Amino acid sequence: MSNKKGQVQCINDEILEKLSLKNRNKFLNYNLMSYLKPEHLNFLKKTQKFFERFEKNRNINHSEDFYDWIPELGKEGLVTRVHKFDNLGFNFEPYGMTAEFMRILATDFFDPQLAMGGGATVLAINPILFHHEDEEVRLKALKEMISGEKVGCICITEPERGSDAVHMLTKCEEQPDGSFLVNGEKIYQTSGPKAGWAVVYAVTEENNGNTMAQFLVDTSWEGWKAERINIPWTPRIFIGKETFTNLRIPKEYILGKPGEGRSHLFEGLNMERLGIVCLNVAEAWNAISHAAIYANMRKQFDQEILKYQGVGFPLSDLWAETMSLTLATLNIFGMIDDKMEQLGTLPKEFNLALMATASQLKCISAKLSERTAYECANLMGGAGVCDNTLMHDLLGVTRIQEIGGGTRQVQQYIMSLTLRQIFKLL
Ligand SMILES: Cc1cc2nc3c(=O)[nH]c(=O)nc-3n(C[C@H](O)[C@H](O)[C@H](O)COP(=O)(O)OP(=O)(O)OC[C@H]3O[C@@H](n4cnc5c(N)ncnc54)[C@H](O)[C@@H]3O)c2cc1C
Repeated sequence: MSNKKGQVQCINDEILEKLSLKNRNKFLNYNLMSYLKPEHLNFLKKTQKFFERFEKNRNINHSEDFYDWIPELGKEGLVTRVHKFDNLGFNFEPYGMTAEFMRILATDFFDPQLAMGGGATVLAINPILFHHEDEEVRLKALKEMISGEKVGCICITEPERGSDAVHMLTKCEEQPDGSFLVNGEKIYQTSGPKAGWAVVYAVTEENNGNTMAQFLVDTSWEGWKAERINIPWTPRIFIGKETFTNLRIPKEYILGKPGEGRSHLFEGLNMERLGIVCLNVAEAWNAISHAAIYANMRKQFDQEILKYQGVGFPLSDLWAETMSLTLATLNIFGMIDDKMEQLGTLPKEFNLALMATASQLKCISAKLSERTAYECANLMGGAGVCDNTLMHDLLGVTRIQEIGGGTRQVQQYIMSLTLRQIFKLL
């Protein structure tokens, strides 16, 4: 039985039973099993089993504070799979972008808001991993986030600087002892109010991205204040507005000195966008799995509604688009994983090409997941919009995906710039 039953039951027992996490997982697996390598399919299935047991044993109804679950996910190695982290005492197998995609698919089917909210920790881990320089405090922060002991967030966006993030206003000032004092405000940080660790960007000169620095911040320090913003479409994700008042950053916590912050910020963007692609694809599959099961069982005018072309055909279109996007994502992740295995890094040319590809995939997947969640809910009628299933969570979460990680227009801007660059090569 699905553990999400809502306040008042609207869907009959038989269909609710069929909409269980276990059956939705099976639906996904039948779609993907022919295309995944055994190691990835096995990891997907293992992670799905973990969440099925987790949901059942704790009688989870998806109204809980999912941040309380993160330490347990960490013990299972389910906070991030982007890297193996063997030099930090972990030894994740499988790891890489395809494994991360599997982790996100399984997590999203269990709880879409958890999958999205948890992504911020991955974004905080990556820059520290690139710039830890074996500093003890940075290694500690990494270990605490990977193991799920602490949540992470990244602080780029400001109340007056959103898409134009490079021209930031948050200031950092070097002190005689080499530490920095940070003053300013950030906004819309995923998991900000729950974070134990934050990666913060600030400039020595307002509006001058060339003076940007990157800091690791322990949020228990004096001078850090995080307030929770209310985003009604994702009521269980904690999004923050942070105020820094003479926030002192000791030397060991400087990840990038003034001048280095901007390139550090940009080096994480491709991976951030590709992570959002995973979420979008997972959300689309989750919605399709609900609608496909429901439409095969719900009868009107004495027929299963899937048999009516008005239901079966649009659902098939969404299925085809989601499958195509999944195969494109698997293809690019396969290339990234192969290059990382062979070279330990991504070649410069490939990384440049990836910039446009990450924007293309982010842009298309965000649109597709929003439309898929809405259409699937619509095809399920009242059952799609009541609170008995995760469809309501999917409707909310897919509506904000076009904004985070750079808006649709910013992705389009990057793509159109690339079209110009290619033209100039002709
Ligand atoms: C759910 C959620 C989670 C987020 N998580 C984080 C996080 O963890 N950390 C973080 O730092 N930030 C985060 N953000 C912030 C996010 O990156 C910004 O909201 C985003 O960059 C847009 O900035 P803005 O909201 O100020 O909008 P604005 O930049 O003010 O944009 C408003 C509108 O103008 C358009 N626009 C702006 N400039 C142009 C242009 N040159 N050409 C055409 N159109 C333009 C935009 O596309 C948009 O439609 C999150 C946001 C959301 C909604």
